[in-house]
Amino acid sequence: MLRNDDQLATWDRENFFHPSTHLAQHARGQSATRVITGASGVHIEDRDGNRMLDAFAGLYCVNAGYGRTEVADAIAEQAHQLAYYHSYVGHGTETSITLAKMIMDRAPAHMSKVYFGLSGSDANETNIKLVWYYNNILGRPQKKKIISRWRGYHGSGLMTGSLTGLSLFHDKFDLPMNPVIHTDAPYYYRRKDRTQSEAEFTAQCANALEALIQAEGPDTIAAFIGEPVLGTGGIVPPPAGYWDAIQEVLNRHDILLIADEVVTGFGRLGTMFGSDHYGLKPDLITIAKGLTSAYAPLSGSIVSDRMWKVLEQGTDENGPIGHGWTYSAHPICAAAGVANLKLIDDLNLVSNAAEVGGYLNASMKEALGDHPNVGDIRGEGLLCAVEYVADKADATPLDPAAKVGAAISAAMLERGVIARAMPQGDITGFAPPFCISREEVDTVVAATADAVETVL
Ligand code: PLP
Repeated sequence: MLRNDDQLATWDRENFFHPSTHLAQHARGQSATRVITGASGVHIEDRDGNRMLDAFAGLYCVNAGYGRTEVADAIAEQAHQLAYYHSYVGHGTETSITLAKMIMDRAPAHMSKVYFGLSGSDANETNIKLVWYYNNILGRPQKKKIISRWRGYHGSGLMTGSLTGLSLFHDKFDLPMNPVIHTDAPYYYRRKDRTQSEAEFTAQCANALEALIQAEGPDTIAAFIGEPVLGTGGIVPPPAGYWDAIQEVLNRHDILLIADEVVTGFGRLGTMFGSDHYGLKPDLITIAKGLTSAYAPLSGSIVSDRMWKVLEQGTDENGPIGHGWTYSAHPICAAAGVANLKLIDDLNLVSNAAEVGGYLNASMKEALGDHPNVGDIRGEGLLCAVEYVADKADATPLDPAAKVGAAISAAMLERGVIARAMPQGDITGFAPPFCISREEVDTVVAATADAVETVL
């Protein structure tokens, strides 16, 4: 399957700085150059003609599935008609204005406007700037700290890398005078006290947040950022009542809530937004990946009514808001967004995510639930995770050096299925395109069960 001995592989090793890659191993040719050449539906193909079922939708982003001509045609049409114009000082295009309307029609009712960026990371950078601006306009310049959660993933920018509660993303890139503080992840399976009920664990998370706020000083905390379901941190849905308990604490201290819906936005949990699913009332919603199903890079920060009023007041007092990207609301990306959201509606892909997602999670439990080294199988909508342990009885973790997650993903790849070895090392993640069928889910589950049997 892997060719590492030809011109393209040499050019790759000599010239291409890949993200999230062991640079030295790749330069030595110890990790393969994988050249993907085409895709359709839930399958991708490499240059050697191998066809693989992509059960992670790229990086949980190709939600509508690969090879959608409707989206490709919309991109081409826009490129021919008007490849670019900026969106500063009231400029727009038919597609960018239409997309803004489509997003706001789908967003929770208390949200007001959308600001466009290009990546989830830059949208979260925008969010932090808006939160700080908001507090400056309200005359409380000391209210600036941001609470994020261990295991949260919010990007790899200068600020967002610190928000990300995974040490790989901020160790050795230390931000001076970092205003980010971390609180506990709502990871019930890994609770320290195994006798604790879900309700007790939820109360503990809320109490830990309250204690952190008290220790730092409520007047210094501007916002709390969280994914409705932790994604890169191990695909962890929150325990029952978690978001209600957290929002109660935040509201009491006038702390803004940023719902990072880069993964959950536009249907992955079987509802349009994760905020709908868990009853969140955020002040900012981060969107990216599913907005265009990754046919073009586009992100957004959706701003609530209450924040919007203060932003308007700020510009009346200080002039235009000093924040903008050249490619904000890029017409080609906006055209991809309009066509993608229309396709998601026309094909009822959000209800498919709910229906087939339920089937995926149930089938995975049926196939692997009794395996002695499978400790937890969890998910919501079309997100699913299988976590491996040394001892199921007390959830004893496996030795990280065994790299079990990577071995299982490699064994699955040999069976023609792509699943993600999550960064924790002992979790396999699934986030397929929304168009996946029950038969394709059966293939994914069979490949997982087979790989687990081989490796463990
Ligand atoms: N937020 C979440 C929840 C994500 O999962 C990601 C990426 O996976 C990001 C933000 C960052 O998005 P990007 O990689 O487009 O910058």
